[in-house]
Amino acid sequence: MQLKILSTGSVGNCYILENEKEALIIELGLNFSKIKEALNFDLSKVVGALVTHEHNDHSGLNGKFINEALNNAVTVYSSEKLFNLFSIKNHNAKNLIKYKFNNLGKGFQVYPFEAVHCNADLKPCVDPLGFVIYHKDCGLVLFLTDSLVCKPIFKGVMQFNNIIIEANFCNDIINSRFKEGKMNHSLYHRILKSHMSLNTCRDTLLANDLSQVQKIVLIHLSDSNSDERKFKKVIEEATGKIVHVANNNQILEFNKNPF
Ligand SMILES: [Zn+2]
Ligand SMILES: [Zn+2]
Repeated sequence: MQLKILSTGSVGNCYILENEKEALIIELGLNFSKIKEALNFDLSKVVGALVTHEHNDHSGLNGKFINEALNNAVTVYSSEKLFNLFSIKNHNAKNLIKYKFNNLGKGFQVYPFEAVHCNADLKPCVDPLGFVIYHKDCGLVLFLTDSLVCKPIFKGVMQFNNIIIEANFCNDIINSRFKEGKMNHSLYHRILKSHMSLNTCRDTLLANDLSQVQKIVLIHLSDSNSDERKFKKVIEEATGKIVHVANNNQILEFNKNPF
């Protein structure tokens, strides 16, 4: 299995888990033509696209990229509330059932859970989701982005093999930028209330059973409030695992076993 990182961060998010037979798109925060290109214009192995929430960088402006995917006959999986928000009515727009494994294609299963995320006005998003994705090649994968915290306690319930998780900002950097007047008040508070800090990311990881984890991929780093090298170092030292900081147009081997 490979993890293709097409785009990560507040400009746009799109990731693909792909083996020879199947491909699962995670997030539609990118023009669909770019996603098609990444799949060599072959959509036949796409089992579907998962979408976490309604922000432009995950679904396009007013769900534009969700509609583009649907127009290309790709099945899009998200919450019923998200489809209702964008008035999307299409037989290929499928509601996921939270806290259950939903089958996608032959090889994938996805277990959606509640994320904690809000809009610019600090009102909560309609139904933001995180995912646990299973495929025999990459095992159990935790995928969590745009979430203040990780609500479910997975320890004792799920043993992850790989983890893809947001590490958006670091408190030291964001606080000093705010004090220096480089950020306005509302943006500062919005980030603090809706995105995962490096410390929360570390604590979330350490609250889980990491004994079977091969790789940890840090995603959705803020352009201004993060430091790639520091983030990698902090998470590596805390977990003792292989840590990658996601970059656009990056491909990582993503397997259950180290080979
Ligand atoms: Zn985002
Ligand atoms: Zn968001």
